[in-house]
Amino acid sequence: MADLYGLGDRPPLGEVPKQMHAYLVRQNRFGQPRDAWKREIIPTPTIGPDEVLIYVMASGINYNNVWAALGAPLDVIGERQKMGEPEDFHAGGSDCSGIVWAVGPDVKTVKVGDEVVVHSGWWRPDDPWVLSGKDPMLAESTRIWGYQTNYGSYCQFARAQAHQCVPKPKRLTWEEAGCFLLCASTAYRMLMGWPPHVIERGDVVLVWGAAGGLGSMALEITRAVGGRSIAVVSDDAKKKFCLDHGAAGVINRSQFAHWGVMPDTKDGKAYGEWAKGARAFGKALWDALGERLSPKIVFEHPGEATLPTSVFVCATGGMVVICAGTTGYNATLDLRYHWMRQKRFQGSHLSNDQQAAAVTRLVAEGKVDPCLSRTYGFDDIPACHQLMLENAHPYGNMGVLVNARTPGQGASR
Ligand code: NAP
Repeated sequence: MADLYGLGDRPPLGEVPKQMHAYLVRQNRFGQPRDAWKREIIPTPTIGPDEVLIYVMASGINYNNVWAALGAPLDVIGERQKMGEPEDFHAGGSDCSGIVWAVGPDVKTVKVGDEVVVHSGWWRPDDPWVLSGKDPMLAESTRIWGYQTNYGSYCQFARAQAHQCVPKPKRLTWEEAGCFLLCASTAYRMLMGWPPHVIERGDVVLVWGAAGGLGSMALEITRAVGGRSIAVVSDDAKKKFCLDHGAAGVINRSQFAHWGVMPDTKDGKAYGEWAKGARAFGKALWDALGERLSPKIVFEHPGEATLPTSVFVCATGGMVVICAGTTGYNATLDLRYHWMRQKRFQGSHLSNDQQAAAVTRLVAEGKVDPCLSRTYGFDDIPACHQLMLENAHPYGNMGVLVNARTPGQGASR
């Protein structure tokens, strides 16, 4: 038995080498992702009773590991050390397709040799909230796998909890299967997880960053469940992509200038300018839809730059649902539109097992496309994160080969 195998060299099924290849961030190189992520050889992790080791075939790239590289807003290494974990590195990666290679003694739901995708909802099995059967995404112990936990999918062997494993859609290649689930499961919870504000046939959904990872999944899910999405992008070159992935209409946000924190409502001139911009954006939305109907759901993640407009254009009784603040955390809104029109402002974070399984089923049935943008090699991991930070990445979800040697493998249609 070798201590270390080359990437793509497959040990006999179930044999776990002592060491493995991985992409890591260390605290002394926090900063631009192109320099922060480096390839190293580290010990293969051991697994707990409810955990599995996955031989990673392909991974996706997510914004959370841009944040991990920057070391902000959270130093994920320092946070874990405070909780008693010994590692002085972050081996990230929150999207994964692969083969179950080892299972802990309590694992009943998957077995060695199963082909799976991994969703990134992680929680302590002994958390009283989880044990009570309530939504585990609301438990105190919940973390995002491959961001707040170590040994994610940029490792030759990843460590996950067994409940995170979802059967791999057979029709997908390794890279298609490995690129989508973090964004798809997050989008699914945002659009279908907060009743009564769930998409029903004909409902209008406004999707920010619609050619991005989350946005593309929101377009696909909205179409799959019978809604109509209006996509927002910053470049006309992205319009065709959005229409191809289900958008009923597209708005180019670069034609407007009222972005950022909402001005003081007592400053009549500044507020008036802002309101003019927000109204013009609302009109552009109706024009794109071809009907004077406002969105029942606004799919938010830019945050500070766009939230005032999101609340303004949301339909009476509708919901603005938000999972990030990429442009800043200072949320402002004109409360008059919020209460008089009885809107809902809902935070949302990742997904639970059922939501991850539900969206993976839509993918397996061919109703939702995983929107694989481009397939990269393992050593492109730093560059992919840099592209994402600079908003220069290809539309949809990037895939990265880990143990898969060439693109196009793994599908059995
Ligand atoms: P992404 O692929 O980079 O897409 C984000 C999109 O936002 C970009 O395509 C860009 O599109 C748009 N954008 C950038 N600046 C903007 C601005 N000033 N105003 C409006 N739109 C702007 O990233 P992603 O994977 O979709 O992730 C987006 C955010 O969600 C990240 O902060 C990520 O960490 C977070 N996230 C959170 C969760 C969760 O569970 N909480 C899960 C997944 C992702 P245009 O330039 O074309 O408008």
